[in-house]
Amino acid sequence: MKVPLLDLKCQYQLIKHDVLRVTEEIYDSQYFILGPHVEALEQQVAQYCHVEFALGVSSGTDALLIALMASGITAGDIVITTPYTFFATAGSISRVGASPCFVDIDPATYNISPVGISAAIDRMSHAERERLKAIIPVHLYGQCADMDPILEIARDNQLIVIEDAAQAIGAEYKGRRAGKMGDFGCFSFFPSKNLGAFGDGGMVTTPSKVFHNIMLTLRNHGSHPKYYHSLIGGNFRLDALQAAIVSVKLNYLDQWTKMRQDHAATYSRLFSRCGLADRVVLPVEKETRHTFNQYVIRVAEKRDELRAFLLESGIGTEVYYPVPLHLQKCFSFLNYRERDFPEAESAAAQTLALPIYPELTLAQQEYVVDRIQFFCAKKINHEIHE
Ligand SMILES: *Cc1c(COP(=O)(O)O)cnc(C)c1O
Repeated sequence: MKVPLLDLKCQYQLIKHDVLRVTEEIYDSQYFILGPHVEALEQQVAQYCHVEFALGVSSGTDALLIALMASGITAGDIVITTPYTFFATAGSISRVGASPCFVDIDPATYNISPVGISAAIDRMSHAERERLKAIIPVHLYGQCADMDPILEIARDNQLIVIEDAAQAIGAEYKGRRAGKMGDFGCFSFFPSKNLGAFGDGGMVTTPSKVFHNIMLTLRNHGSHPKYYHSLIGGNFRLDALQAAIVSVKLNYLDQWTKMRQDHAATYSRLFSRCGLADRVVLPVEKETRHTFNQYVIRVAEKRDELRAFLLESGIGTEVYYPVPLHLQKCFSFLNYRERDFPEAESAAAQTLALPIYPELTLAQQEYVVDRIQFFCAKKINHEIHE
C-alpha cells in the first residue's frame, strides 16, 4: 500500500470545476495583479480569522517581512522567537537587519515557552532591553502557542506581537482565532499548508488601521500616490489567480480541518489499541482548536531508522525540522551553541510527521500504525536477544 505524506490530486478533483471557471474568468480579463479577486479574498480571510483587516501578499515569508517592516523593526533591534520552526520566521528578522533572540520550546506542544521568554528578557542587559522590539510566536503544526502569557509579557515590555500562523489558519486558542491575538497574523498559502494556493501566496491580518495602511503602501514599493515613494517597500503583491483559487478552497477549509482532526483522533485510538502509546509520544492538544497541518509523533530513539523503514513500506514522512535554527550555519554569527536549547534540539532529533491530509483513508492509517508497530516490535525483539 502507498501512503504519501501529502496528496493534493484528490482534493483537486473536488474543486476542479470551480477553479477552472474562476481562472478562465481571470484569463479573459487579463487582470493578474491585485484587483477584485485579491480584495474579495482579503475580506473572506479577515472574516474567517475574526480580524478587522487582511492584506494579500506574495508569500508567508513576505507576510512576516512586511509585518516587521510596518512595525518599524530595523538594524540593531532584537526580536524574540523560537528556534524550532521553519527558517522564514528567523530569516525575516535578519532580513530587516534585526537579530533573532531564540527561546526554547515547551516539549509537549513544540511551541515557544512563555516562561522561557520571561527568563530571556530578565537576562538581557539594559541596552539589550532597549533594542528588544517584538516577539514572534509560531503556531507550530496547527496548534496555537500559549498566547495569554505571551501577550501579557508583550504588554509589560511594550513589544509588538507578530503571530507566525503560516501553519495554523483556523486554529483557536481559548476561542480566539490564530492571527487575531497579536498586532499581526502571518499566513502562508504554500501548497502544503491547510489552505494552499497553486503557487506562492500569503496574507497578513491586523486589527490596526494604521498598520494596515502602512502595509498597503509597503506592498507596492512604498508608492502612494503612484510614483511618489514615502517608504522603501517591496513587491509583496498577491496574484489574482492565486487569490481566486484560495477563495474557492476557503469554502472547504472547515470541512478539511474536521477531517484532519478526525484522522488525528483515529491515529491516537490506533496507537493506544496496539499498546504503542508509551513508546510513541502522540501530539497533545491544549485549550486550542488544533488544525493538524502536521501530525507529529515522537520516538525516543532510532527516528531516522523508523523513517527509512516506513519509506521502504511505501509510507511518506518528514522531519520538521532536523536542524534547529540556532545551529544553522547562516546564524553562526549569533554565537549560539549546541545544548543552548535542549528541548528544541531533542525535538529535532526525535519527531516525525505522519500523513494527515484530509482524504487519507482508515485503511491507510491502519497500515501506517501497523508498520510502526512492526518496527517497534522488531526493535524490542532485538533488545531481548542482544
Ligand atoms: C510555510 C511557513 C512560512 C513561510 O511561508 P511561505 O509561504 O512558504 O513563504 C513561515 N513560517 C512557518 C512556520 C511556515 O510553516
